[in-house]
Formats: sequence, C-alpha cells, structure tokens
Amino acid sequence: MAQSATHETGSEAGDASADAGRPRLTFDLDVDVCVVGGGLAGLTVAREAARNGASVALLEGRQVGWNASGHHLGTVMPGYGVPVSDLIARVGFDNARELWSLSQAGADYVRATVMTNAPETAVTDGALEVSTVDAGDEIISRLQTLGEDFGADVEGWQADRVRDVLKTRRYFHAIHYPKAFQIDGRKYVHGLASLAEQDGVRIFENTPVVNIDPAGVRKRVVTPSARLRASQVVLAGNAHIGAAGVRLATTLLPVWRYAALTAPLGERLAETVTFQGSVIDTDGIDHFRIVDGDRLLWSSPETTWQANPSRFAKAIRQRIATMFPQLGRVEIAETWGGVFGQTVHGMPQIGQLRPGLWVVSGFGRQGLNTSAMAGELIARSMLLGDDRWKLFSPFELVWAGGTAGRVVGHAIGKLSRQQSAAAGALARYRERAAAREQTRELAHEKRVAVAQSRSAAAARRAAELQKPHGRP
Ligand SMILES: Cc1cc2nc3c(=O)[nH]c(=O)nc-3n(C[C@H](O)[C@H](O)[C@H](O)COP(=O)(O)OP(=O)(O)OC[C@H]3O[C@@H](n4cnc5c(N)ncnc54)[C@H](O)[C@@H]3O)c2cc1C
Repeated sequence: MAQSATHETGSEAGDASADAGRPRLTFDLDVDVCVVGGGLAGLTVAREAARNGASVALLEGRQVGWNASGHHLGTVMPGYGVPVSDLIARVGFDNARELWSLSQAGADYVRATVMTNAPETAVTDGALEVSTVDAGDEIISRLQTLGEDFGADVEGWQADRVRDVLKTRRYFHAIHYPKAFQIDGRKYVHGLASLAEQDGVRIFENTPVVNIDPAGVRKRVVTPSARLRASQVVLAGNAHIGAAGVRLATTLLPVWRYAALTAPLGERLAETVTFQGSVIDTDGIDHFRIVDGDRLLWSSPETTWQANPSRFAKAIRQRIATMFPQLGRVEIAETWGGVFGQTVHGMPQIGQLRPGLWVVSGFGRQGLNTSAMAGELIARSMLLGDDRWKLFSPFELVWAGGTAGRVVGHAIGKLSRQQSAAAGALARYRERAAAREQTRELAHEKRVAVAQSRSAAAARRAAELQKPHGRP
C-alpha cells in the first residue's frame, strides 16, 4: 500500500479547516436516533443506524474529529486496553473469546470501510507489541491464548528477530500482528463523516448537548439553540460529555496523551528501524511508527490535566534518544495531543443505560477497532435487537474518583512508568550478566580443552619415552 505523501496527522491548528462548514442545529427536529458526539464512536454508530434504515441526527459540540479521533497514531489492531488474561479472569474463557472476536470485527470494519471507499487512507501493515523485559514465558502463554484458543493471527518473535528490525537492546521478545494496519487518522474520521452523510445522517457541528431528558418513549435533547426528540439517544461524547451525561462523566478519568512528528531523519532512520508497521510496548508507554519514509511519529507522555502539547517535545525527544541513541539529535517538527476517557477497569463503556439511552465511550488508548465495533454493535442493538452488548455488562460504570482520581491516576501512571523503566534496566542487566557468564564459561571450556590436550600430549610423550629402544 502506498505511503501518504504528506504526514498523516494534523496539528491542532489545522483542525477547524477539515470539513468545516457543517450547520449548527437552529431548529427543532424529530428523529429516530440522536447521537451525541462526532468522534469515531459517534460517527460509526450514526452511519450504521442510518444504513439500517433509521433517521439519524448527530450533534457535535465542536467540529467532527477535533479531538482524539483526528489526532491518534492510526494503528488498528484487535484487542482492548487490558491484558487478555485479565479479561479471562473477569468474564471467563468463552465470553473473553467472544469479546476478542468482537474486537477483531472492529478492526475488520475499519479495514473494509477504508478499502472500499478510500484505499489510499491505509498506509502500512503489521504491528509489533514489544516487551521491555525478558518475559519469554509470559509471551508464550499469551501467544497460546491468542493464537490457539482465540484463533487470532499472531506470531511470536524472539529478541534477535525484534532487534534485527529495531536496533535497540531495550526490546526483547514481541508479538507480531501481521494483519494489524495503519491508517491516516484525519482522512479516516472525515471520510467516515462523509460516508455517514451519504447514508442519510444529518451532522450538526458547534451544537453542544446541554441536557437530556431520557424519560418516556421520545427522549428530549436540549442544545443552546434548539431541541430534538428521538426514540434512541446514544452518548458518544468521550471524556467531554459534560452536562449531557454527568454521571457518565464521573466514571471516566480524562487522560491527555501527546504525540510528535520528527523532522526527516534520512538514512539514520533506515539503519535503525526497518519495521514499517506500528511498535507498541507492552507497558503502554511508547507507541511509534515511520511515516513519510524517514520521519518518526511517536506518542508517549500522558497527563490527567490539559497541557500545551509543545511542552512535551523535549520529553518525546528524550524517549527517542533512550530507545535509539544512534539517531543522535532528533528535531521535532510538530506536537499535538488528544484526550481519551479511561475507565477504572480499562474496558470500554458499551451498552444500554436505560431503555433507549445508550453509551459508547471510554475507549482509552485503543479506540480505533473498539469504537468501530461499538458503533456497529449498538446500531444493531437499537434497530435489530442484537443483544451482544450484554457481554460488556460485567464492566459496569465505576466512579473514577473525581479530582482525587486524577491525582492518583497521574501518580499511578508515573509509578508504573518508573517501575517499567526499572524492570527494563534489570532485564538488560540480567541479559548483560548472562552474556558475561557465557563468555566466562566459553573461556573456561577453552582453558580446560587446552589443558586436556596438553596433558594428552604429555602422556603421549611419556609413553613414547617408556617404549623399549630396540637395536637395529
Ligand atoms: C495521541 C493519541 C494517539 C492515539 N493513537 C491510537 C492508535 O494508534 N490506535 C487506537 O486504536 N487508538 C488510539 N488512540 C485512542 C483513540 O484516538 C480514541 O480512543 C478514540 O478516538 C476515541 O473516540 P471517541 O469517538 O470516543 O472520542 P472523541 O474523538 O473525543 O469524540 C467525542 C466527541 O464528542 C463530542 N462531544 C462530547 N460531549 C458532547 C456534548 N455534550 N455535545 C455534543 N458533542 C459532544 C466532542 O466534542 C468530541 O468531538 C490515541 C489517542 C491519542 C490521544
């Protein structure tokens, strides 16, 4: 697949321009389905509801895709933001397997949408989930669950193979997802909005929903300039939902994640990173990939409050230098950030809050496949009675702790990054110690072999001397 000629993400400054000009809702409206929020989740559910014959209005408080949905790294892979072993522990093996296949269906939805409508939006294939510690046994057990039990397309890579394509001793084993892929995130979200409109969805921008009365068969949705009535209302507002879903808002910890695009790095990048897909570490700290042939798109820092993304240029430069010191000084051309809602249990919020009031939110760091899956699933649930959303019921709405939760969330994030750095350092120390031990053993074996051959030679010489000297 062709690589995009320009880089694939937009700066914050570029946001308002794409698809600007959608109207504000200024008149009262009656529809079957009202979707609150014009990110990936809202757009997918709106599009799928319209494709299933409903009249649909989508109300977006700002512009379509202005937040995380237009500013991610474009990695589409199956799974959720929680380890598969946690999933099995929580819901049991069979339900975990079904949840996994739903997450794969979300990735397939994105691929099918892109390949049918805008194949140039897909850029590269493959993703590597790399371990920063030497945890071969754990990887083998995950591979077994994913590959053999869940039927996922995965391969285990030994550290040598990983280090062939990523020249750093910081990474050990990896799980390769050959069918994961990368998309141009901004093109995808705006393309999805256009497809939804072609299917009949009416999108209103600059239309924040300030109140919802969910009682009764026809629910009332209030915006500053108009009212709307709908049989089904879908809350797809992520961490911004605000007054429209106060209780819901308190169940999400807002996490701002920041990303940067480097200046072109030329040959030095080709000598250092040859893997063309996405690289994600198992601790969820670094996530990067090559774009435009010789630039790095890299995301890492997170905060639980909003900050200016440019403040994190230095931190990202340092992360790159830590992983790939041979790249030397790397210039950062652009920085940006987006906020996603993180739930306490790490799984997305997908389901029915009360009859006719639905939620698709809390997608965390892995929102591309999961928001697509949730959109399709909830549209089918509302209109066709598909009740697989109940698989998500064990992950109920848990209070995220308010301001204290943000402080604790930040502290935990910092601590787990420190712990991961310490575990990585320990793993590298062990690896060096093992290499030293191996060298010592080889030297010892060599010394023993030399000594043995010397004593054999001495024995041969002694035997020679003891032979009787016969006369000619
Ligand atoms: C830097 C970064 C990199 C990432 N990289 C990846 C990646 O590579 N792969 C991956 O799978 N995921 C990635 N993610 C996560 C992914 O981007 C998100 O999980 C996903 O985009 C969330 O989509 P959403 O529709 O729920 O939220 P949003 O994109 O936030 O959309 C919600 C919309 O709802 C609107 N809204 C909220 N409240 C109201 C209201 N009351 N009235 C009207 N409108 C309202 C908001 O204005 C907003 O536009 C990344 C995230 C970040 C920040």
